[in-house]
Amino acid sequence: MEVRGAPALAIADAVRAGKLRARDVIEQFLDRVARLDGALGCYLLVDGNGARKRADAIDAAVKGGRDPGPLAGVPLGIKDIFCTKGIETTCASKILRRFVPPYESTVTARLGAAGAVTLGKLNMDEFAMGSSTENSAVKPTRNPWSPAHVPGGSSGGSAAAVAASLCAGATGTDTGGSIRQPASLCGIVGMKPTYGRVSRYGVVAFASSLDHPGPFGRTVEDAAALLEVMAGVDPLDATSIPAPVGAYRQAARAGREGLKGVRLGLPAEYFQPGLDPEVEAAVRAAIDELAKAGATVVPVSLPHTKYAIATYYLICTAEASSNLARYDGVKYGHRAADPRSLEEMYTRTRGEGFGDEPKRRIMLGAYVLRAGYYEAYYGKALRARRKIADDFAAAFTTCDAIVTPTSPVPAFKFGERASDPLQMYLADILTVAPNLAGVPAISQPCGFTKAGLPIGLQTIGPALGEEICFRVAGAFESRTDWHKQTPPEAVS
Ligand code: GLN
Repeated sequence: MEVRGAPALAIADAVRAGKLRARDVIEQFLDRVARLDGALGCYLLVDGNGARKRADAIDAAVKGGRDPGPLAGVPLGIKDIFCTKGIETTCASKILRRFVPPYESTVTARLGAAGAVTLGKLNMDEFAMGSSTENSAVKPTRNPWSPAHVPGGSSGGSAAAVAASLCAGATGTDTGGSIRQPASLCGIVGMKPTYGRVSRYGVVAFASSLDHPGPFGRTVEDAAALLEVMAGVDPLDATSIPAPVGAYRQAARAGREGLKGVRLGLPAEYFQPGLDPEVEAAVRAAIDELAKAGATVVPVSLPHTKYAIATYYLICTAEASSNLARYDGVKYGHRAADPRSLEEMYTRTRGEGFGDEPKRRIMLGAYVLRAGYYEAYYGKALRARRKIADDFAAAFTTCDAIVTPTSPVPAFKFGERASDPLQMYLADILTVAPNLAGVPAISQPCGFTKAGLPIGLQTIGPALGEEICFRVAGAFESRTDWHKQTPPEAVS
């Protein structure tokens, strides 16, 4: 079986049927990583021997007539923000260098129990702060479609690795767009479920009320299959939702039968000046295709959209400044050498360990939480967040799902936005509102620019409405070939 471009489920089905050995699959992927990742920079760590051992165990199960699970033999890349027991987890930060977690995240534990095989840990913006993976303290990740362009972020390593078939699926986290935006820029599928749908246990916290773990796949059904395994209540995360996990694969497949009776909302606020004309044309053509599949397109309004970026950057920095207080050189990772006092140990550890972007967020967050400013900034942001969530709730009384572009622009060049944090923050303008509202949203490929860069379509659903996202995305995918494109093979 040619693994380049192969969907994860094609691999799992062949392994479960005994037609393909998990060990052979893993060797092929490890060989691809060895040949191609030097040029792309997706992996921070490759666990070849661990992967071989797990693959052998899957093959032994198949041979012994036992079911190794729905993801049998599927090679996965794990964003380096998920704690993996015994395997270094750094969030691409110097401050967590050599941090080896003593426990496993719920997400990776569930994926492993379903037969998936972890190949290694993937690059990201430091602590998931960024939209291009340029904030990694380790190295940049390149967009497989064009090495001069960023893969998006913060889960840039995950999106680029799936796009380049350096793994068949991956995990990511999405706090303000970090699954959907890199999926869009790399031409693959990325899903941010409802807040609490997937446990955050063992996921290093950035902004706890906004962090959503989720899957990347080559196809809508792959993403659905991964989410089915990742999702569900977890006693170790009190914010996880005790609602039954939906039949996401079935929903994705149901989309192939068309979208009769489905009302798709088109929010004018997401088609404003600043939207790249090629992106707009591709997304409007995609919406026409969804209408041909039987959907009715209705205008909706999300009037508080204009406050989303400011609201997001107030809340996420406030939460980050509190979450990142724990990195002080005492318990985790880096500690400054030979400090003369405890205070110097703290300040030098943090000064040396954090990159510019985490430092910027910690300072902004400490500022907005300061006595005297708290109400004016943080309190106001919480009220705006409520209005944004109410916008979605109101829109979903007249439509079943909302369709928009995922990113206002295709992949940008290295350095193009990195020098201006505000420009980088604006890359999230179409993705942050669903995080603030906690509602699910999926991004899938819907075209290419003339220069050959992927364009993404975003479908947003109501809270706990992952199924409608998968159904709409499944419908679009079954009528188009964008997801079948593979990027050129880079040479290391
Ligand atoms: N780009 C956004 C930020 O920098 C979102 C990051 C994310 O979703 N983790 O905060």
